[in-house]
Amino acid sequence: MSKTSRKKWDYHDIAQWGPGRHELGATIPVSGTADDYDTGGWRSERPLRDREKCNDCMICFFACPDSSVIVEDGKMATIDLKHCKGCGICAQVCPRDAIELKNEIIARKLEEE
Ligand code: SF4
Ligand code: SF4
Repeated sequence: MSKTSRKKWDYHDIAQWGPGRHELGATIPVSGTADDYDTGGWRSERPLRDREKCNDCMICFFACPDSSVIVEDGKMATIDLKHCKGCGICAQVCPRDAIELKNEIIARKLEEE
């Protein structure tokens, strides 16, 4: 679904909403919109993979709740940092301790070096 066709919530009378309307705040009106938002900005820690330790077992791919482990040709290619939220599940499940979570600011500096 494109951004233009996505249903918009009607907030015009939000000041008058009573308890009966609050459940709307927890409603996801349409599915499959994750690609429209760069949710990686929420991240405070970034997963960094040690290529030497990784054997491309793909366990992190199946465990990632944000589909942020990118696979190419049957191998773990990279992590989609536009959507990865830094939850650390990939690091927890990795049987080879190949993923380490680093403070986001420190990780960016390391990347620049
Ligand atoms: S779980 Fe660990 S070893 Fe397996 S693909 Fe992911 S980083 Fe590599
Ligand atoms: S930190 Fe969380 S969101 Fe990011 S790649 Fe790992 S499991 Fe996915």
